[in-house]
Amino acid sequence: MKMYMFEAGVLKSKQQYFTLNKGIDKDFDVPVPFALIDHPKGKVLFDTGNALETVHHKEEHWGSILAAYDPVMTEDQWCANAIKKVGCAPEDISYVILSHLHLDHAGGVGHFPNAKYIVQRDELHFAYVPDPYMKAAYIRKDFDKDVPWVILEGWRDDGFDLFGDKAITIHFTPGHTPGHQSILVNLEKSGPTFLAADSCYTTDNLQNGTLPGLMWNAGETVRSVERMRLLQDAHGVTIMTGHDPEAWKSVKQAPAYYD
Ligand SMILES: [Zn+2]
Repeated sequence: MKMYMFEAGVLKSKQQYFTLNKGIDKDFDVPVPFALIDHPKGKVLFDTGNALETVHHKEEHWGSILAAYDPVMTEDQWCANAIKKVGCAPEDISYVILSHLHLDHAGGVGHFPNAKYIVQRDELHFAYVPDPYMKAAYIRKDFDKDVPWVILEGWRDDGFDLFGDKAITIHFTPGHTPGHQSILVNLEKSGPTFLAADSCYTTDNLQNGTLPGLMWNAGETVRSVERMRLLQDAHGVTIMTGHDPEAWKSVKQAPAYYD
């Protein structure tokens, strides 16, 4: 099994959106990561980054949220194109696991014709009727598509084992949004690696308990990060954060891979 990490461009932003009350108005350009896992039983994407429309029509596609998060992405960095650089076509993808449906994660929904899309029920519901403060982060035209959804049910499905061999397990990590999920990838040489996505943006959120600047529920956010720290400290799991410009510098990017 191989895991490739990709960057679907960056979001030009400010630090306080990622670390609450820290770095007010400080420029903070964060990576938009997604992963391709090549498992013997199927190829899996974890997240899909921004929509292709953000390359040429971002004002029209993203609207008011551009004031806080400005995407800079090339056509080659868009998920369905980027995977071609490791010899993978959109038709080859069997599963797309979506951490959540925010605009910098759900931009590739509907572009993988043979894939099932794995999402939490709470996320899908919230994405259609979000609380007002989070409405701008969900672009309905990105995810309102007639694709084959696989719906997971929160704690009941926590630890869902995708291929039945513990290679990729899906973990409920609510807090950032009601239906956020992360994955644990059990790599042979690199060891167990937890792709947190937005349940843990940065190393500061992980190690120091700094709250993120945007969240649905603070208590759930803290609990999800605490479980990650336990995985790290007690099980030696590597935690890969979701939008940390510093940590991202040491991540191997495709075509290099983790195995
Ligand atoms: Zn994000």
